[in-house]
Amino acid sequence: MATLEVKGVNVSYGKMQVLWDVNLSITEGSIVALLGANGAGKSTLLNTITGLLKPTSGEIAFNGERIDNLSSDKIIEKGISYLPEGGRLYPDMTIKENLEMGAYHRKFWSSRKEGLDRMYKLFPILEERKKQLAKTMSGGERQMLAMGRALMSNPTLCLFDELSYGLSPVMAQAVFQVVKQLHSEGITVFLVEQNVHQTLEIADYAYVIENGRIVKEGEGHTLLEDDYIRQAYLGM
Ligand code: ATP
Repeated sequence: MATLEVKGVNVSYGKMQVLWDVNLSITEGSIVALLGANGAGKSTLLNTITGLLKPTSGEIAFNGERIDNLSSDKIIEKGISYLPEGGRLYPDMTIKENLEMGAYHRKFWSSRKEGLDRMYKLFPILEERKKQLAKTMSGGERQMLAMGRALMSNPTLCLFDELSYGLSPVMAQAVFQVVKQLHSEGITVFLVEQNVHQTLEIADYAYVIENGRIVKEGEGHTLLEDDYIRQAYLGM
């Protein structure tokens, strides 16, 4: 069953249309990727799924229920968590406080202790450093913290925008490893990435967006062998 269904979605900023008839489907328990260059419309799509932007037309359904008319608050409550590009941590707050901010919504605040325990198990380094300020961490550690914060609301679907951006290859690998672990725990993951090779290696299915339109889709390993993807995105 599809967890998330995006149908015929068009989105504009004022008079400028940036998403054109976007259709995509994310199956429960899968890792699905959205690939595309700068400015292709990836963040716009995530902002639309999470209710920060409203489509001018089209529908978005989560677990069979329309969500395109709901507020972001209500969408989080339903089990969708969003990690925006760059993580947007609070640099002068501790690691523990940053994690707690992920449970700030009234529905999750009372269970934040259980959430912290889960995150410390998933990212032991966060427990070791829980009293340290977020700004003292390395880029890779900050991204782990941002992922942990996104997971504090116990989501069933995680939207991750450019998780590996700016990370060393080793740290990018570590971050993708966490995605695989979440997948093995049954969490559905929608990855928006420019790191095409590593992403296609772990994605069950992927979509390619160019100038606001989905131009290609297929299983991750199939797209890795696709001539167009190899030339346009892998420089081969
Ligand atoms: P990047 O990885 O660089 O963020 P992206 O694929 O996420 O790229 P978007 O940020 O969704 O792309 O941008 C899609 C288009 O919409 C671009 O042409 C961008 O300039 C434009 N755009 C994005 N945000 C706004 C905004 N708030 N107002 C007007 N135009 C915007």
